[in-house]
Amino acid sequence: MSDAAGPNRVLVLNSGSSSLKYQLLDMSDGSRLASGLVERIGEAGSEVADHAQALERVSRELSGQGLGLDSPELAAIGHRVVHGGTLYTEPTLIDDAVLAGVRELVPLAPLHNPANAMGIEVARRMRPDLPQVAVFDTAFHSTLPEAAWRYAIDRETADRHAVRRYGFHGTSHAYVSRETARLLGKEPEEVNVIVLHLGNGASASAVERGRCAETSMGLTPLEGLVMGTRSGDLDPAVVFHLHRQAKLSVDEVDALLNRRSGLVGLCGDNDMREIGRRMAEGDTAARTAFDVYVHRLKKYLGAYTAVLGTVDAVAFTAGVGENSAAVRAAAISGLEPLGMILDPVRNTVRSGAARLISADGSRTAIAVVPTDEEMEIARQTYALARGGSAS
Ligand code: ADP
Repeated sequence: MSDAAGPNRVLVLNSGSSSLKYQLLDMSDGSRLASGLVERIGEAGSEVADHAQALERVSRELSGQGLGLDSPELAAIGHRVVHGGTLYTEPTLIDDAVLAGVRELVPLAPLHNPANAMGIEVARRMRPDLPQVAVFDTAFHSTLPEAAWRYAIDRETADRHAVRRYGFHGTSHAYVSRETARLLGKEPEEVNVIVLHLGNGASASAVERGRCAETSMGLTPLEGLVMGTRSGDLDPAVVFHLHRQAKLSVDEVDALLNRRSGLVGLCGDNDMREIGRRMAEGDTAARTAFDVYVHRLKKYLGAYTAVLGTVDAVAFTAGVGENSAAVRAAAISGLEPLGMILDPVRNTVRSGAARLISADGSRTAIAVVPTDEEMEIARQTYALARGGSAS
């Protein structure tokens, strides 16, 4: 549907500490007009000194296709922002106060929010006239009940320091749970879905009739599933033990758990394809890494089945979830008593489309649903920029 009433393109920016990813989408038909990535921002020897130069480069690349940032066809810019804390639970039209808010939340996301704020700042400088929207990775999880978001630690200390479960990858969990309902021919409000977002970072969520009821990441993205380089769940006393016995500083333990743990810590590789190849050659470290990864997934499937009571669908998404038939098969195997039965042939068919991979007799539908965070950000941005409600 083309809308004669105004411009309908949305630029989505995902600004990292040394990178700027972008996509330009046409909201009249959902088509992707352009996408790209500027890397090594601010690094030694890089031609791109800062985020302002990176965005100018993006604009030049887009201008080459007649789609530059100055284009009158551009309706809005949508920014991915990692942490919204308890301040922002909805996509939010950006003004000076919101930019200041994103910066206020830096202590909760010291790696991400500063870069996100930088992206917002340079884009507003380039197009001060254009509506710009912040879409928060935490927002979809703001519906978690207190029993799910509150950690069982001293209440006063927790509240004073904003220590609670926030959850991340929310844009993906929102998009995938909705697309899963669509695949089943249902409205999101009619179904309960467990979403397994298995990329380099990985998280699970239990979505009850369209609202998030539980999620595996916590105060930071470290909690929960085994990831490419992060440990996920562990006894918090591991931190004290490593500090006292191995004499590691807090920063060293932080780096160990975030960057040298997970699959890479277990076997030296964080790419599931490489782990698969090594397993086929009988490599025992790769086998153990796979087993630990899958065991954790299975525990979350069981836990979230208990949280939801009835599970209409389990949806696999992101790099591993969309591509690794071996992980999907291992995670679902043995869950027949829970009503989850995979069809081995459907599971191995390669496709880029959302699809069912469960057996006909499976009570719970099992699906592969490719995620599209940029499309979700663009939709929410466009809705808000046009003065409607984003959700
Ligand atoms: P990010 O979290 O960085 O966005 P992705 O969602 O793109 O990551 O997932 C990246 C991961 O997906 C890789 O590290 C790799 O483990 C996995 N992956 C990608 N393609 C395949 C494949 N064909 N088979 C198995 N795993 C894959």
